[in-house]
Amino acid sequence: MRHLVFERVGRLSFREAATPVITAPEQALVTPLAVARCDLDAAIVHGRAPFRSRALHALRSVVPRLFRSLPFGGPFPFGHECVAEVLSVGEQVRSVAPGDRVVVPFQISCGRCDRCRRGVTASCTGVPHAASFGLGRGDWGSVMADVVRVPFADAMLVRAPDVSPVELASAGDNVADGHRTVAPFLAARPGAPVLVVGGEAMSVGLYAALCAIALGSEQVDYLDPDPIRCAIAERLGARVVATRYRKQPRDYPITVDASAHPDGLAAAVLSTEPAGDCTSVGIYFATRTPFPLLPAFMNGIHFHTSRVCSRAELPAVLALIESGRLVPSRITTLLAPFDEAPEAFLHRGPKVVLTRDKR
Ligand SMILES: [Zn+2]
Ligand SMILES: [Zn+2]
Repeated sequence: MRHLVFERVGRLSFREAATPVITAPEQALVTPLAVARCDLDAAIVHGRAPFRSRALHALRSVVPRLFRSLPFGGPFPFGHECVAEVLSVGEQVRSVAPGDRVVVPFQISCGRCDRCRRGVTASCTGVPHAASFGLGRGDWGSVMADVVRVPFADAMLVRAPDVSPVELASAGDNVADGHRTVAPFLAARPGAPVLVVGGEAMSVGLYAALCAIALGSEQVDYLDPDPIRCAIAERLGARVVATRYRKQPRDYPITVDASAHPDGLAAAVLSTEPAGDCTSVGIYFATRTPFPLLPAFMNGIHFHTSRVCSRAELPAVLALIESGRLVPSRITTLLAPFDEAPEAFLHRGPKVVLTRDKR
């Protein structure tokens, strides 16, 4: 079968690989119907994530513990957001059957360990730290492939609602990531205004704005130096308040930092009202990042940062998509067939979705 491989910065290719088979009774084999490019994928292919640096790799061999959390450089199977159809299941699988359409969370989680049972599915203790598809971490493979083996089918797979695969391709990662930055806080304070600081987490910031609008925020403001993302945010119904990272004149009860830029982080933190909630989703690869701790302390803001727990977030995300209130394709800037994945993944806009049938 074919799978997509990250060769090096600016270069992806399809390679032949052995077709996965079921080797344990809790597994399933699925075939992706639509695949999306994660914001992290975009950073990797354009050389903005520290996956390619020879100096870093050399340092990694000398001080491996510093780099425990970073994947290797290429080549490795690439792509980790998809909606799929079940091909076959192991004998212990009960929740899905061949022919079912399912959303595949990008993180591997067992469903049985204490953390999985508490919803901390990003940090399952049944698998190596931060195990996921398509990021060079372990042998889980890419989802930009003809066949994908899902190691814990009952724990991981969520039945897809009856909407186009295009709407679901990113649900198992970036849409869920945007959703968790606003959903719990809007549930606690219905209608509250939201500020999203966009940037490197290109689509996550836009999904955060889209989710905030879908969940009834009375005012969604958006700050981003990128004119393309600002134009998309405006089309979604957000108000672009600035194109430079800086503290806003007003305070917000809910703020989101998707910038992965220290100035964007500061803008979000400093624009959070006393006792408000600020969530940072951008990845700061530096071991130390400046943070305005004194104002955060004086205002008593609640600062949240983590990888998304994609499996735990999925049911709420899919319900919102099924209701028609959340339409993720409004952020898609390139829709292409699977065969064009090596070129399409290099697209500069915020979201690429690849489909088998272009529905
Ligand atoms: Zn991702
Ligand atoms: Zn687990």
